[in-house]
Amino acid sequence: MQQQKYPVLICGAGPCGLAASYVLNQFGINNLIIEKHPGTSKHPKARGVNVRTMEFFHNWGLEDEIRQHELPIKARRILWMDEIQGQILAEIAVDAKQNKYSPTTGCSVPQNFIEDVLVKALKKSQHSELNFATELMNFSQHEDHIVCQLLDKNTNKKYEVACEYLIAADGAHSSIRNALNIPMLGVPSLGTYLTIYAHADLSLWLKDKQAVVYTLASKSQMGHFLMAVDHIDKWIFGKYLEDPATKITPDYCNSVIQSFVNGKKIPLELISSSTWDMAALNAEKYQNGRIFLVGDAAHRLPPTGGMGMNTGFAGAQNLAWKLGYVLNNYADESLLKTYEEERQPVATYTLEWASRNAKRIFNMLDAYRKGDLQLFQELAKDQDQHVNHTGLDLGMVYLSGAIYSENHAPVAVDANTYNPASTPGMRAPHCEIMVNGKSQSILNLFQDKYVLLLSQNAQVSPNSLPIPASYPLKSYRHKVDFADINNDYVQYYNLDTYQAILVRPDGHIAFRMA
Ligand SMILES: Cc1cc2nc3c(=O)[nH]c(=O)nc-3n(C[C@H](O)[C@H](O)[C@H](O)COP(=O)(O)OP(=O)(O)OC[C@H]3O[C@@H](n4cnc5c(N)ncnc54)[C@H](O)[C@@H]3O)c2cc1C
Repeated sequence: MQQQKYPVLICGAGPCGLAASYVLNQFGINNLIIEKHPGTSKHPKARGVNVRTMEFFHNWGLEDEIRQHELPIKARRILWMDEIQGQILAEIAVDAKQNKYSPTTGCSVPQNFIEDVLVKALKKSQHSELNFATELMNFSQHEDHIVCQLLDKNTNKKYEVACEYLIAADGAHSSIRNALNIPMLGVPSLGTYLTIYAHADLSLWLKDKQAVVYTLASKSQMGHFLMAVDHIDKWIFGKYLEDPATKITPDYCNSVIQSFVNGKKIPLELISSSTWDMAALNAEKYQNGRIFLVGDAAHRLPPTGGMGMNTGFAGAQNLAWKLGYVLNNYADESLLKTYEEERQPVATYTLEWASRNAKRIFNMLDAYRKGDLQLFQELAKDQDQHVNHTGLDLGMVYLSGAIYSENHAPVAVDANTYNPASTPGMRAPHCEIMVNGKSQSILNLFQDKYVLLLSQNAQVSPNSLPIPASYPLKSYRHKVDFADINNDYVQYYNLDTYQAILVRPDGHIAFRMA
């Protein structure tokens, strides 16, 4: 049988593999995405979708579908309780209000629904082919291609396909990363945890206490956490496993859930369970020749802060548009090196931030255990830094060969504060503009081409731009092609100083010209 060849093969149909496939399709790149399971995961892990990820969905026209599964706005808070039948000890509000910095907002949507929305979109796409029940067994990398040995789990037949690039989106225990001997650097375990997904009726206690996460602090439930999936009868029950080798059986899961409700009999149906190490690890390299690590395969973040999927999602988008540019012959392969240059430091920063959040939670539990309620309340106030992080979401600044900045030096980022600006490397700020009589976010201009934003009287020749002439480029002139509705454009894009701002397809500023 003739070996089929794809420009890109993606191993793993978690959120990051699916996002990479979606973006490749936008760039007209044929790609095969394989998943060893018969479908996407039904166990909801992530639920915190940050504002940047929602901006991708907004730009892709998928926001409304994603929001159909959103938890109600009034549930956007974290509650600390002694136990779920008990009293509220502290409340940390998650800022979900629309602000002027984005056309959208973060939200809480279970990861399995996000995956379903992406799968549905890919099934309708022209360039993405999705094969479930297909496992990558082996691969060999050659100078200009990779040969992948796949197992069709329905027929138990092995076959080979070739690809020009391989994306390892195969999760925290990535077999591709392991085969390439890429070490993970950092802390392998901050503890082993169990999460149980179940249908359970907790309305008696929680109907009027809606929240995304409940952290429990009573003596018998110290450190247990409960996460709302639909806030009706679908919940995730989580706990620290003192013995990581604990055998997880349905009986054990039932007993854990019973411990949450002090043995009260409640209607209950177990769906799935998962044990995982809270790790803080970053891969030493994100690229090996034609192979790229994406998502949890590249970085494992403590879920305290809800940034694992969000970080992987932005990474998948970063890599996929660059592969699109290379495979469409607009860019040479050196562009691909900038994936690691840009995303690895972001993961390091986010990982350290998430680790500090984990410590904050441990400290709160400790204060409560010791009966120091004043310290507990002080630490609760500090939790705001954990849950509200616009600087982390929107303010990260890339430094790489694809960013042409005046002074090539790292820009300090404050995770909790975002100041819109046209600094090269930064996500281009949102502002409302009018194009052809229609109001829209300026972010909608950044899709599959470089965009040159010009001030009204700018005199800029494309030859003076630092990008190759082969890059597709579209120019928009202020007050000619678009109008600034609230005067934010003038301010955020520093029009008093810069007459031209060059924005990449991923919405990050590549260059600005005085
Ligand atoms: C309790 C908890 C809460 C979390 N909350 C949040 C949150 O609120 N926000 C957030 O952003 N993140 C959160 N996360 C993290 C988030 O779930 C992960 O970062 C995310 O799942 C990573 O996506 P991924 O696509 O990289 O990997 P995965 O979701 O792990 O997907 C990898 C896929 O690859 C497949 N695969 C593996 N090997 C092969 C192979 N050889 N062949 C074919 N397929 C293969 C697997 O079956 C799997 O489907 C949370 C995590 C946990 C545990």
